[in-house]
Amino acid sequence: MMIPQELEAFRPMRVAVVVAHPDDEILWCGGLLLSHPEWSIFVAVLCRSSDADRAPRFARVLQRLGAQGAIGDLEDGPGQPPLPDETVAEAVLALLPAGDFDLILTHSPRGEYTRHLRHEEASRAVWSLWNKGLLKSASLWVFAYEDGGRAYLPRAQKDASFRITLSEAAWAEKRHLMLNTYNYGEDTWESKTLPREEAFRCFDDPGSAAPFFSGHGPL
Ligand SMILES: [Zn+2]
Repeated sequence: MMIPQELEAFRPMRVAVVVAHPDDEILWCGGLLLSHPEWSIFVAVLCRSSDADRAPRFARVLQRLGAQGAIGDLEDGPGQPPLPDETVAEAVLALLPAGDFDLILTHSPRGEYTRHLRHEEASRAVWSLWNKGLLKSASLWVFAYEDGGRAYLPRAQKDASFRITLSEAAWAEKRHLMLNTYNYGEDTWESKTLPREEAFRCFDDPGSAAPFFSGHGPL
């Protein structure tokens, strides 16, 4: 029988990142991805395939990450009208390649700041697909940030399951991707938020994640 360490040596970890927008993969988990060049990464972005500025920048970010990816075009206007759960779930399935994953990274069902509905919808869709067995992964990690209800810029939650402070090299590369490749100015919310400490809430089976996703777990 193959033990996990031998499995890791046998083939790379298969990692899916499911986010609402091109830039979320860098903002919330870019350092983690950059710290694991050995991972086989697929980034699924739900919105903005028709954004003539950001979609090509996303393609360049994928190249720097050594990742594959796909971008969809869910409604993303400033009004944030709620989307049906099925619409978001179908978009997630349409973007991801077939097969099982070792790890899926996505938004928190409460988002990372106050507030962007598409982040919360993406999280709920991934959770629902994982819970129903339509999306198979050994683990699900959700981003763990909070902004005190807009009192400050988003920061790593202190009680997150896993936190990583980026090395100088990973931090420099993360900043480069955000400020140069995505072209966010120094004074933008995105550049000022950009966390050097990344945080995740980690689940190894849908059952243990159910209380958190149904709203009764710890924030
Ligand atoms: Zn976003």
